[in-house]
Amino acid sequence: MLTRFAPSPTGELHLGHAYSAVLAYTAARGAAGRFLIRIDDIDGSRSREEYVAASLADLDWLGVGRDGDPVRQSARLDDYAATLAELRSRALVYPCFCTRADIAASLSAPHGPSGAVYPGTCRNLSETERARRLADEPHCWRLDMARALAETGALIWEEVGQGLRTADPAAHGDIVLARKDAPVSYHLASTLDDADMGVTHIIRGADLIASTDVHRLLQALLGLPTPLYRHHALVCSPDGKRLAKRDAAASLASLRAGGIDGRALAADLAADRLPAGYSLQNP
Ligand code: GLU
Repeated sequence: MLTRFAPSPTGELHLGHAYSAVLAYTAARGAAGRFLIRIDDIDGSRSREEYVAASLADLDWLGVGRDGDPVRQSARLDDYAATLAELRSRALVYPCFCTRADIAASLSAPHGPSGAVYPGTCRNLSETERARRLADEPHCWRLDMARALAETGALIWEEVGQGLRTADPAAHGDIVLARKDAPVSYHLASTLDDADMGVTHIIRGADLIASTDVHRLLQALLGLPTPLYRHHALVCSPDGKRLAKRDAAASLASLRAGGIDGRALAADLAADRLPAGYSLQNP
């Protein structure tokens, strides 16, 4: 078994991150497997080195020991670019020049699990127009969902302990695989990394279950193995809301500063026991 924890260094880790990391770590250790850390730092404008260091220090405090050095997404940009080039050559992605305002202005844009479903404005531009606009207009790259689904057909994954789930990527529409402001999207980077790292069990919050629909599709398109999944309940604060980076009281740094023993906290979290007031809830 190989599991991973993949923080985005855009803020401090909180109890919800600790719960996720502890579940993935204890699953691997319990099976004499391996546990890796991945730093999801492709968002150059929001990622900070200080949060990378703070996250690793928090994990050390919890006693969550990693195998090997953390994997950095920012060091894997060439792999993402090569995959995008492959998808381009298979006509599975197209450049999109729309702004957010253009998409919002389209009255027909319904809402899907990844936000507004793209109305398809740039899907059928002529090659000449594409070439002309690619030269000087900011653009992202979108997956042609209908073409992708025509290649893969119906898709399933296994949710550990619960059986098979049907993936529903179509509900996301033509998702972005490479952003205007970042060379790759979370969906593409995470799917490629999990495969390259040899992750066998993806243990992450239930808020990401809709992403699994897309990741399963990308695995099928790219011939990657499908790991097993466990989408766990989310840690909620005393007011019943899912923890967010702004919940300073639940940050691991403040718990540590308050004298809490990290290893004891990790043992409690592994047994679904949370500090007073906090609860686990399924979204
Ligand atoms: N960096 C992502 C996050 O923090 C990782 C999600 C995942 O585990 O796939 O939400």
